[in-house]
Amino acid sequence: MRIQLLPSTFDAQGVANLEQRLTCFLIDDCVAVDAGSIAIALTNEQRSKVKDIIITHPHMDHVASLPIFIDDLYPNLQQPMRVYATAEVIELLERDVFNWNVYPRFSDLKNDYGPVMEYVPIPIGKPFNVAHLNVVAVPVNHIVPTVGLVVSDGRSSVAFSSDTAQTEEFWKILNELKGLDALLIEASFPDRMAKLAEVSRHFTPASLGQELKKLTHNGMDIMAVHLKASYRDEIIAQLDALNIPKLSAMEPGRVYEW
Ligand SMILES: [Zn+2]
Ligand SMILES: [Zn+2]
Repeated sequence: MRIQLLPSTFDAQGVANLEQRLTCFLIDDCVAVDAGSIAIALTNEQRSKVKDIIITHPHMDHVASLPIFIDDLYPNLQQPMRVYATAEVIELLERDVFNWNVYPRFSDLKNDYGPVMEYVPIPIGKPFNVAHLNVVAVPVNHIVPTVGLVVSDGRSSVAFSSDTAQTEEFWKILNELKGLDALLIEASFPDRMAKLAEVSRHFTPASLGQELKKLTHNGMDIMAVHLKASYRDEIIAQLDALNIPKLSAMEPGRVYEW
C-alpha cells in the first residue's frame, strides 16, 4: 500500500513545506482519508483518479478543501464523488459545510452525467470496502464524533488514529489484528501544552508515549502525524526523546510504502 500525507502548503518555488496544517492522506493514488488539502496538493493524474474519500470527522483541517475539490471537478465528474463517513459525520457535513451558506449542497446537485456527490454511510466496527481496500472504522476520543481506521489491501494493513486523546476500542481492534504494518498516530502539541491537548482531545509526545504502551504489536512503523505547524520541531525533538523504536514524524509529500 502506498500512502502519502499530502502537503498543506508550498514555497514560492513549488516545493512542499514540511509543516502540516491540513490533513489528507492519499492511498494508492486513488482513495483519500480526510480532505484538508485535497484540492491543493494532488497532481493532475491523482486528481483524475480519486473517486473515494473517507472523512474521519468534520473539523476544518480535515475537510477544508473538500468543497473546492468537488467544485473544481464539477462539470467533468462522470460518476459521483463518493464521500464515506459515519451517519453522524454526514449529518454534520450537511448541516455545517454543504448547507447552501458555506457551500452548495453538492449531494443534491447534478451535472450532465448525473449526481456529483454521494454519501456512503459507514458502519462502526464492521469491515466495508472502499475501492480495492478493506476498511474498519473505530470510534476514538475527540471532541466531535470521530473514527480511526484500519485499512488493508490484502497484503498489508495500516491504522490511522485520526484526531484522538486516550482511547481504548482502537487499541483493542489493533491488538486483535494478525499483522499491522504501520500506525499513523497523531501528536498535535508539545508537552508544555498538555492542558490544551487535554481539553481539545489530542496527544502530546508524553501522553502518546504512555498511550503506545497499550499496543501489543511490535516492529511496525509508527508515524506521528497532525503535528501543529508552529511547534513541529519541538514536538519532533520530544518524540525522539521517547526512544520508541521505529517512531518518526511522517513527512508531508513523501510516498511511504507498506
Ligand atoms: Zn479534530
Ligand atoms: Zn485535526
